[in-house]
Amino acid sequence: MNSSKPKSEAWRLPRGPLQLERRQDFADDAIIGGVSGFVQQWVHQASAVISARDLQAALGKLAVEAAQYAELGKPQRKALLAEVERLGSLVEQAMDKQRTRPPSVIPALKWDSPLSQLPGIGPARTETLAKAGLATVGDLLQYYPLRYEDRRQPQPVAGLQHRQSTTLVVTVTGEGYLAYRGSQKLAIVPATDGSDLINLTWFNQPYRATQLKPGTKLVVTGMVRLHKGQAALAVAEAEIVQDEELHVRRIVPIYSAPPFSQVVMRKLVQATLEGCNDYPEDRVPAELLVERDLMPLGQAFREVHFPGNMETLKEARARLAYDELFALQVRLAQRRRAAKATPESAAVEVGEALAELRAALPFALTRAQERVMGEVLEDLRRPEAANRLIHGDVGAGKTVVAAVALLAAARAGKQAAIMAPTELLAQQHYRTLRELLGALGVEPVLLTGSMNGAERRRLLTQLMTGEAAVAVGTHALFQESVAFKDLAVAVIDEQHRFGVRQRAMLVGKGPRPNCFVMSATPIPRTLALTAYGDFDVSILDQLPPGRKPVVTEVTTRREVGRGYRLISDVVSRGRQAYMVCPIIEKNEGRHLAAAESMYAKIREDIFPSLKMALVHGKMDASEREAIMERFRAGELEALIATTVIEVGVDVPNATAIVIMNAECFGLAQLHQLRGRVARSSDQAYCLLVCGTGNLDTIERLQVLERTNDGFLVAEEDLRRRGPGEMAGTKQAGVPDLRMADLLADTRTLAVAREDAFRLVDEDPKLEAPENAGLREWLGGEDGVGAWTL
Ligand code: ADP
Ligand code: MG
Repeated sequence: MNSSKPKSEAWRLPRGPLQLERRQDFADDAIIGGVSGFVQQWVHQASAVISARDLQAALGKLAVEAAQYAELGKPQRKALLAEVERLGSLVEQAMDKQRTRPPSVIPALKWDSPLSQLPGIGPARTETLAKAGLATVGDLLQYYPLRYEDRRQPQPVAGLQHRQSTTLVVTVTGEGYLAYRGSQKLAIVPATDGSDLINLTWFNQPYRATQLKPGTKLVVTGMVRLHKGQAALAVAEAEIVQDEELHVRRIVPIYSAPPFSQVVMRKLVQATLEGCNDYPEDRVPAELLVERDLMPLGQAFREVHFPGNMETLKEARARLAYDELFALQVRLAQRRRAAKATPESAAVEVGEALAELRAALPFALTRAQERVMGEVLEDLRRPEAANRLIHGDVGAGKTVVAAVALLAAARAGKQAAIMAPTELLAQQHYRTLRELLGALGVEPVLLTGSMNGAERRRLLTQLMTGEAAVAVGTHALFQESVAFKDLAVAVIDEQHRFGVRQRAMLVGKGPRPNCFVMSATPIPRTLALTAYGDFDVSILDQLPPGRKPVVTEVTTRREVGRGYRLISDVVSRGRQAYMVCPIIEKNEGRHLAAAESMYAKIREDIFPSLKMALVHGKMDASEREAIMERFRAGELEALIATTVIEVGVDVPNATAIVIMNAECFGLAQLHQLRGRVARSSDQAYCLLVCGTGNLDTIERLQVLERTNDGFLVAEEDLRRRGPGEMAGTKQAGVPDLRMADLLADTRTLAVAREDAFRLVDEDPKLEAPENAGLREWLGGEDGVGAWTL
């Protein structure tokens, strides 16, 4: 841009360079930096001062097209310059008009200007806004509408149907008055839209009768009543509108629980959009915006609050969602780099570990296991540290996959640790691995929180000296007093039970061990790309042969007898059963099945002869373990339990599970629980006893009747509960996304991820000048900064 021009005139299109370009037959030689840079600069200046929305949109479109100037053929170049000229003139005209208007009361606002700079926002309103988390221009503009109301063609009063729900734009025609309907006061206000008369009615808001003077314009939503040819509207929502251009005859935004009324919010947002001439356009590198054909940010904010039409709204949302997902993925790409970076090589000589293990196993590996083990071993061979999520449905056989990594580390003369979320599960892993690895001459050690002084000290010494090559344990493994000689592999089972911090603590036990996390909570792919976006992902998408889907049924409390019959049925065939209750002890306030009372009831009233026991989280670990051991050994026929049995417990002879008050659990958790009986080649059964007759609740549970596919269950869970509630996302530190929808925006996510990972590959610390805006937005070079967007 011609820098000698006074700044205030920077919106004026410099025509000289364009004439030169034309004279030189559109060779793109006339302007330093090319026509594309020139046009984009000018658009930038012009957009900053233009307030007409259609012109803004045209400029945005032009900038995108101009970016491709170098690639265009001559006729298109010619057409493009003509469009530049045309818009140049329009901008000049518009500015002339704008300048002859009385000076705007809205000061020039910056992206981070406090909202107190807006006219009409004094200390009290500033505080109210602040309480809603709205302090700056940027905050307010990112306070996105919940939905929109299309008021372009309001419904005419003439032709309304009885009991129809509608929105009308009307003017009050006369004085309001009060009437009585039983003990209730009814305010009645006559109004019209020009097509016919209608009485607006409010129950128990008598002030409406005097508040609404003739001539007041209203947008009202409610239910129509036609009585003897007279129309009335029982008003549910009313907006008094002074500025029709803003609130009527357009698509208007509706904000969710705003700090002020919708009308006031709209005014505030509009004033902000008019005043703001400083959008962080460069928070996404310009090259990507062009490549992905994204709407300029300023325009996107205008469109998302006041859409021109549904198409432009869609584009605006796509831009804003892209930004959020892109920022998130840049952070994940950086985290992934950091997780893999290591001061010295993390490579492990894997040798013959896989062949040895295969020979020792009593079964053949599934194809999925072979594939994932191959991926794990490939990770180990590489000098950068592994950071891999091994993801597979309950019973897919993740433990042996972990075993190959443990064995490889031991064979290479290094150490490995596997951490489980509960003592029960750690014990079980220990037993499995002792059998499997023990046969190959590698004796694992077990470290849990309940170990006593002398035994514990002996174990710690073994880990410190490297005498013990493979450690199995709980959280106890990453306590400060635990040190390894050379920890090369860290496996974390049931990852969703641990937080990011706990994971980091275990990984911190070596210079940078290869890290494998395992999860049986299937999560939809899009969520995996955010919650675990910094991991390489392996999916065990195959169950060992012969597994049958668990036959699942939902029933109600009244038919709990079916649960007892199911248990007695499988037990009479020599199988075992679980009954799961949501709570341990009877709780006065809530009518939930308690494990203790169920236990007493079954023992006293139902099957006095049944060999059964009670397990729950308040028991001593050793007591609980003893009971589990008896159950595993077949001495007990049934277990009455709380969700302590949820994760990973493996008793193949158990083929039935009855879950009381199933409505208390999430679908993914119920799927985990029924996974406890999916471990043998015998047909297994799951009965979900629902404590309420609520149809929505029953319908939610019935998802489990229809599918045994954990991924489908997880998707359904996500749809019903929202991503914030999904296992793993909170711990993984995924920020709340305001615009992006992880289920709907899958395509945008894929694109943003690709762009982000490529960018971080090229410029890991965001040092390039074109990434300066992004770096600032993310609050630093390496992901230490806040995640908030
Ligand atoms: P999860 O993926 O839920 O952790 P586990 O590793 O506990 O599953 O395995 C579940 C059961 O399946 C175990 O009893 C295990 O021995 C068995 N198993 C694992 N892989 C196979 C296979 N390839 N063939 C047959 N059984 C297998
Ligand atoms: Mg497991």
